[in-house]
Amino acid sequence: MYPAADTATLLIDGKWLEADDGATFPVTAPATGELIGRAADAGAAETDRAIDAAAAAFGPWSAETAYARADVLRRAHDLMLERAEDLAVLMSTEQGKPLKAARNEVRYAADFLAWFAEEAKRVHGRTIPSNRRGHRFQVLKQPVGVVAGITPWNYPMSMITRKVAPAVAAGCTIVLKPAEQTPLCAVAVLALLEEAGLPPGVANLVTTARPEPVGERLLADPRVRKLTFTGSTEVGMRLAAGAAATMKRVSMELGGHAPMIVFDDADPVHAAKGATLAKFLNTGQACISPNRIYVQRGVVEAFTEALVARTATLSAGPGTSPGVSIGPLVDDAALTKVQRQVDDAVERGARLVLGGTRLTEDGLDRGCFFAPTVLADIDETMLIYREETFGPVAAVIPFDTEEEVVARANDTAYGLASYLYTRDLGRATRVSEALRFGIVGVNDINPTGAQAPFGGVGVSGLGREGGVEGLDEYLDVKLIGTAL
Ligand code: NAP
Repeated sequence: MYPAADTATLLIDGKWLEADDGATFPVTAPATGELIGRAADAGAAETDRAIDAAAAAFGPWSAETAYARADVLRRAHDLMLERAEDLAVLMSTEQGKPLKAARNEVRYAADFLAWFAEEAKRVHGRTIPSNRRGHRFQVLKQPVGVVAGITPWNYPMSMITRKVAPAVAAGCTIVLKPAEQTPLCAVAVLALLEEAGLPPGVANLVTTARPEPVGERLLADPRVRKLTFTGSTEVGMRLAAGAAATMKRVSMELGGHAPMIVFDDADPVHAAKGATLAKFLNTGQACISPNRIYVQRGVVEAFTEALVARTATLSAGPGTSPGVSIGPLVDDAALTKVQRQVDDAVERGARLVLGGTRLTEDGLDRGCFFAPTVLADIDETMLIYREETFGPVAAVIPFDTEEEVVARANDTAYGLASYLYTRDLGRATRVSEALRFGIVGVNDINPTGAQAPFGGVGVSGLGREGGVEGLDEYLDVKLIGTAL
């Protein structure tokens, strides 16, 4: 069980190992820049051995009963809840989010373990009446084989259980490469699965600060039959192209540019509360964060006033400090991107109503903190209207008609989450059906859950995670025709 040594963060065939050459990379707290640990910096050779282990474990694991696989996931769920506070503190320290948000994420991560423990038992096949006498069709669902999973830093535990739980529930084995910024969260989740009884080789962990050679091995190996990736659209497109060479199945959970539409029949104060909660969640570093907040002209003033009043109460700081609701951005590049979008918008005529700069007082200069920001009068000419922000900036855009706003909301290559506020049932139905997004929240800022399919259209990705759909991603369909 981890940790044999602090830097033994590779889990290969049930053993916690250091990198072959002993190389490590630093893990720092984004709020303070302090060193909190080191992780093994694996390369191609360790990745190959992790694939070997997953390939060897596949036969026995896929032959286990669904009930046995479910038992392991259920125990892992219970352990995760028992350890929830320790896991939340680790996450808050390593990733930076406020402790309350980290506690929520631990529960969300555990939900996937429980959900897929149950779904493991419901991998039903079908029999189909044949068009021929003396003939039968039977449909089986079988695990795809070895899976490669690559996860981001912004949700460093739930993005792992959202992949590992359905993979092992289906009878697959997996090699996981977590983000460089949050390897310790990955170690904690994998150690917990191991403690819950997951056999050696079923889930393997490869930490690295060199994603290219590791990614290259995962893509090139024909034994890896599926790639499940969560991260940026740019990297996802490259990996999907690489996966094509060995015709792997792919699930891609990529970037977003969510519209939030507030109609003038909605309560602007209630909608502003929702916008604040959704926008500043995880300091805006969420793929479903509202990036364009369209507000109908009749309520735009009242909405903006309420949004500013709420946003002004948010307090920034290290996630583990009491009362903090805004953590740091992940790194300097994120800070530069947010500042560039804000400056560009102001230059092109947006109104800066609140914030707009880096925060450096009271020790915040040790991390990448950006003031919670509200921009009004945003339009199509501005970078923020097109680029994913991934930071704490609420961009308010006035509009006039339903038809106009649906067209503008859909005018993006992304298609992950979207939101609308209205009290009119007909409008809610029309607009939610017309929005070209994988997820629509109607008067709802959290349209997600382990039991519900999460995923996007367009350049936001392929496939779904969670729900019954989330298990299908790890199952091949086999047709058996029998002449009697
Ligand atoms: P990223 O830069 O694409 O990185 C994601 C993962 O890919 C990391 O583990 C990264 O490793 C790895 N990676 C990068 N290049 C690779 C390569 N050539 N081969 C193999 N792996 C490679 O994304 P991020 O900045 O971590 O995450 C933010 C993005 O994720 C945003 O665009 C956000 O919208 C999206 N996201 C989407 C969802 C969703 O469900 N749709 C959920 C959360 C986040 P390193 O860390 O070592 O670079």
